[in-house]
This record gives sequence, structure tokens and C-alpha cells, in this order.
Amino acid sequence: ENFRSAPQIDAQARAALLRPNPKLDASLRTSAAHGLPPISVLPLAGQYLSVLTRVMGAKNVLEVGTLGGYSSICFAQAGARVTSVEIDAKHRDVAMQNVEGLDVEVLLGSSSDVLPKLVEEGRKFDIVFVDADMIGLDEQFDLAVKLTRPNGCIVLEDVVASMFKEGEVGGHSEENILTRIGKDERVDATLVPIVTCHPMVPTPVFNGFIFATVKADS
Ligand code: SAM
Repeated sequence: ENFRSAPQIDAQARAALLRPNPKLDASLRTSAAHGLPPISVLPLAGQYLSVLTRVMGAKNVLEVGTLGGYSSICFAQAGARVTSVEIDAKHRDVAMQNVEGLDVEVLLGSSSDVLPKLVEEGRKFDIVFVDADMIGLDEQFDLAVKLTRPNGCIVLEDVVASMFKEGEVGGHSEENILTRIGKDERVDATLVPIVTCHPMVPTPVFNGFIFATVKADS
């Protein structure tokens, strides 16, 4: 029996499930026109973020890694106020254009500077979405836990792919972001495996994101 290939099913899912979204389309055009790299979440992943926001009734989302604001739009259109952290001023400027009219604030700076300030301010978010630098992912995860309300959730994007890049997420095979999160008693976490069919990558790639919730008694 012939099974359909992952890219075929992916294309079918995109065609079947995604509704026209002029704001998202415009954000990709504007981002490309300004030379931003095409590394925003893929459309079905963005839809996942929107669905998650609505299922949780999330009102406050913290995002690390704004780029051109594609994922910010996904959260904001689903009803959340988005606080997004971006290190690159050009990315921030393009994102500000793209999210116009939506409840998105972009904080310029490195996550390692900005997130501790948010912790100091006692900020708590329903969802923390980490989609930035794989360097210092441990620290970002620790700060994300501190910034998530009890029973809120943390999404660490693209974790599997990054694990194969030697040196970026800990480097060696025994100790990596998965094992470290596993030892973190403040959270319960899982790996949601996905097959990424990216237009820039010739074959489907096994990937996945970490989906964690912060325990109520942590
Ligand atoms: N979430 C975006 C989306 O789906 O549209 C994509 C984000 S892109 C994969 C990663 C972004 O993180 C880039 O814009 C990069 O400049 C930013 N970034 C990288 N390191 C960072 C850091 N330490 N703090 C804040 N932003 C960072």
C-alpha cells in the first residue's frame, strides 16, 4: 500500500485547515521586503499557537523572539495581549509595522537582560513562547518557568532540531535540554514530535517542541 508522503499530507493540511489571513500574509511580505530571514513559525504551527491561546483563554502571552511578528499576530488575533522580546532593532521595527492595530508590545533587548526585569516586576503570563536563540536555552527556560502562572504553559520551539547542532544546546548527548527539563521539579513537560516540511529543506525533518506546564505548588 502506498502511504502519502509527509510533504503531501502537510500540503493537504495547509490547504484544508488554514483560513485566509491577510494580516499574516502581509507580515510575511513586509518581512521579506525588509530582508528578514524566513524563519517565522510555519502556518500550521502558528495556527497551533492560536488554537492554544483560545483553548486556554490566555490573556497574556510572553514571546521570546519576535522577528517580523508572525507568531505575535497568531497570539494577538486569538485574543491575547502579547509582550514580545527581540534583540534586533530592525526586526523590532518591521514587527511594529506588521502588528499595527493589535495588542502587541515589543521590548527591545536580549532575553537574558529583559526576562530578569520582568521577573523582578512580578509579571506572570498564561503562555511563554520561546523561539529565539538556542544559546542559553537553559537559562531562558528557567526564566520562563518563573514568568509562567501556575498551570500556565511554556512552549520551547524547535528543540529537537537544535539538539543535533553540536554545542548549541549543551553539546553532549547525555545532558541536554530534555534531561535538564526532566529534572526540573517545577514543571511537567512533554515533547510534541512534529515532522517539519519546510520549503527551504529538501526532505522532511523530525523536529519537536517542548510543551510544559508549571505546577500549581511550585
Ligand atoms: N517567533 C517568530 C515568528 O514565528 O514569527 C520567529 C522568531 S525567529 C526564529 C528568532 C528571533 O529571535 C530573531 O528575530 C532573533 O533576532 C531573535 N533573538 C535571537 N536571540 C535573541 C535573544 N537572546 N533575545 C531576544 N531575541 C533574540
